[in-house]
Amino acid sequence: MTPPHAYGWRRLNVGVVGGGIGGMSVAIALRRAGHEVTIYERNDFAGEVGASVSCAANGTRWLHEWEVDVAKGDPVVLRKLINRDWKTGEPVSVYSLDDYEERWGYVYNMFHRQYMHAMLKESALEEKGKGTPAKLLVHHQCKDIDLVNGVITFTNGETAQHDLIVGADGIGSAVRNIIGLNPEKRPSESSCLHTNVLTADAVRLGLVDYSQNSALEYWGGQEGKWDKIVLSPCNGGRLLSYYCFFPRSQGDYTNQTWGTEDRPVEELLAQYPELDRQVFGHLSIGKEIQPWRLWVHEPYPYITRGLACLLGDAGHPMMPHQSQGACMAIEDAAALGILFDKDHFMGDVNESLSIYQEVRLPRATKVQSAAAKAAYNINERIGFSSNTDNKLYNVEDEKGKLTIEEMNGYDMYKHIDEVLARRKGQSFKEKEKFQDGIPVDLKLPNGTLVVEVARL
Ligand SMILES: Cc1cc2nc3c(=O)[nH]c(=O)nc-3n(C[C@H](O)[C@H](O)[C@H](O)COP(=O)(O)OP(=O)(O)OC[C@H]3O[C@@H](n4cnc5c(N)ncnc54)[C@H](O)[C@@H]3O)c2cc1C
Repeated sequence: MTPPHAYGWRRLNVGVVGGGIGGMSVAIALRRAGHEVTIYERNDFAGEVGASVSCAANGTRWLHEWEVDVAKGDPVVLRKLINRDWKTGEPVSVYSLDDYEERWGYVYNMFHRQYMHAMLKESALEEKGKGTPAKLLVHHQCKDIDLVNGVITFTNGETAQHDLIVGADGIGSAVRNIIGLNPEKRPSESSCLHTNVLTADAVRLGLVDYSQNSALEYWGGQEGKWDKIVLSPCNGGRLLSYYCFFPRSQGDYTNQTWGTEDRPVEELLAQYPELDRQVFGHLSIGKEIQPWRLWVHEPYPYITRGLACLLGDAGHPMMPHQSQGACMAIEDAAALGILFDKDHFMGDVNESLSIYQEVRLPRATKVQSAAAKAAYNINERIGFSSNTDNKLYNVEDEKGKLTIEEMNGYDMYKHIDEVLARRKGQSFKEKEKFQDGIPVDLKLPNGTLVVEVARL
């Protein structure tokens, strides 16, 4: 008997513009769904960013589903989130992740970006694994796209035609402009310098060994101040990646790009006369001090047009303060992998892309807005937003804050099935009920229960 989906599914020839975290992820998801994928990258990865990237359970779950060899990313599995007093370094709020894997099924990984990227690239391109290995063409910078016929034009003069084009070309996306979005963005009120510290160097100098905590650690971030130090251990704890925030009025790096000449350490230290001397000691031996441009983007009204869609930072660039940028790119990739798999894709690319937009845009937009709030109030950050009994706790809107339950309790398969059922005018019947992918009756830390909302 012919299976019910066989009349519609067809193998697509997919073009992915951008070979970063999101581009590699979507190549993995789509090759596994049976499609032929070519990734076009403007660079050759020689300048990949040397900083940490966190991958919470909502990202890690897809790495496992895609059979990515996570050990190759040499992650640190996080055990705690610690917020420390700016001057003394004493813990103000500690969110334990001891039961994290038990609750959410997956660990919270902290990767070094180059290792994470290499791990994903291998999974996308290698012979081993489900589906046809993706192809990677470097030095292919997208210049234009014919959105109706699926033809990409590159600055090197070449062209390529595809059935589906995924714009995974990051924060400065060309595809975003091509699909008609001219983002409203403004420079953030805070600036950021990033530096790397080798744990071995710190230990040799008798400084505290923060790698022992396996924790994402924050100094400051309370009381509406922009000053904040974020420490993330990566490379199995051998490298400490520091994000150092301060008011833009004290140093404006808005127009500087990553990868230019390193800034002098004195420029970094000058921002922090009152900072806890232990972490100050670490910063003073920091290497590769680079500015990280911070722009606040308003949410986009759409992320797909014609045969193209946006993914990751191209579609919803966000401030770093929820550590969810990479996870949102991975979730986007997962959504495309499901929507174009043999159980869901019925042959109409436009229809599948419109479901992609319906599923992804509200969720990514909520995280985007929560990331902007967490910039000056750490209590808005997932994890700390559950620590309501600490004396400095306050959030802008208790009912609207972003919670770990919504991030990690989310079931994308259920969300997609819910949307599909609604589009077909059917009711979504499950033993367990879901609303936008979140289990109905799940209790959120603000005391409310997720309820079912009737929609036409
Ligand atoms: C220093 C730093 C630290 C970060 N830390 C974290 C963190 O802790 N947690 C987290 O979740 N997120 C973090 N992020 C954000 C995270 O890296 C991004 O959200 C994530 O990489 C998004 O993936 P992406 O594929 O959309 O973009 P990217 O990974 O930036 O990839 C975009 C790719 O597209 C290519 N490209 C651009 N234009 C074109 C074009 N016209 N044609 C072809 N190719 C093009 C680029 O060269 C690049 O390879 C960090 C980002 C930076 C820079």
